[in-house]
Amino acid sequence: MKNSTPCPNCQEEITIEDFAKQDNHFKLACPYCEAKIKETALTYIILPAMVISALVFFSATIWIKESFEALQNVPTMLVFVGFLLPFYFLYQKYYAAFIVNKGSFKVK
Ligand SMILES: [Zn+2]
Repeated sequence: MKNSTPCPNCQEEITIEDFAKQDNHFKLACPYCEAKIKETALTYIILPAMVISALVFFSATIWIKESFEALQNVPTMLVFVGFLLPFYFLYQKYYAAFIVNKGSFKVK
């Protein structure tokens, strides 16, 4: 398994951590030269993965909120941050590892 992939613009190695830190997986930016990089091979996976993960995390947040009486008046976003953020980071990390290993990158 690869831990990094070379930037198509400056050839510096972009690591899984660099990818995991970026919120928008359609508009990646190289942390070295700041070139906008486009992932071209996995668009058909990225979109459904984004939709499904959003649904899963949203449903889980609602489920946690409804399961605990004490959380009824807590904002949904806080419930998410308090209970699911570690899982979200874990997901981001696996997802970034997948993109680094299977993706193909071009300068936009
Ligand atoms: Zn670069």
